[in-house]
Amino acid sequence: MTHDLTPRPLNPAPPAPDFAWPGGKKSAVFIGFDVDAETAWIGNTPANVNRMVTTSHGGYDARVGIAKILDLMADLSLKGTFFIPGWTAEAHPAACEAIVAAGHEIGHHGYLHKLPDRDRLDEAYDEIDRGLAALKARLGVVPVGYRAPSGENFPELLAHLTARGLRYSSSFRDDIRPYRHLLADGRPGPVEIPVNYAFDDWNFGMTARTSPRSIFGRDMILPLWRDEFAATHDWGGVTTMVLHPQVSGRPMRWHILRDFLTEVAAREDVWIATGAEITAHYEACEAAR
Ligand SMILES: [Zn+2]
Repeated sequence: MTHDLTPRPLNPAPPAPDFAWPGGKKSAVFIGFDVDAETAWIGNTPANVNRMVTTSHGGYDARVGIAKILDLMADLSLKGTFFIPGWTAEAHPAACEAIVAAGHEIGHHGYLHKLPDRDRLDEAYDEIDRGLAALKARLGVVPVGYRAPSGENFPELLAHLTARGLRYSSSFRDDIRPYRHLLADGRPGPVEIPVNYAFDDWNFGMTARTSPRSIFGRDMILPLWRDEFAATHDWGGVTTMVLHPQVSGRPMRWHILRDFLTEVAAREDVWIATGAEITAHYEACEAAR
């Protein structure tokens, strides 16, 4: 693929429209979990399939992390969205069925967590279609939401998501309020519920031999989350969390997450909603305009 570097907005979507959150709430919180399991380690690096300790980071999901996260959400009476790669649903059906049984939304997160690459369109489409088939076959779910594995997207993929009935995406970093994508041919694309990178627990809670980084504890993370949430709330945005059971299902991180969500859930002026609920609200406001 050649690289068209012509100056232009690289995301052609119009600005996020003005609309009110339901019930007079001032902002929204979208609790999203990416249930990567081992796919985070083998999807883009297949040689890791022969490295049991490396992949055991992801194995934590089914052994411990998912159950602990489900306990936490049940304790706080919260519903979230769990983005599950098709491979995870096939490898760990019992752990994934428990997420469905608890009443959470299931979202699409690729099949083997391969980074969507515009130079490999067939592979990118295949990840979508195999992921859809696996979620349907193993969990009986037809997802309406998509979060890109490794957080990448491009025009042909947005069109493919639209063709497959995906109504929203939650990957882009370019806004604090939902907006609707514009496809390259001028048709409307999915609603985007943009993510807030300050709430991606992988950045400060995961370290491994092949991706060493500093990890941070409560004294760093809780103030960061409180401040970022308070400012997003003040601006009437959506606080979109990008959490992973293999990170936030760890003992210390689980407690940080519990304390943050307890504070947010205690507020009267915040709408805690799943991606599907936020999308349905956006669509209703759009239809009324
Ligand atoms: Zn992921």
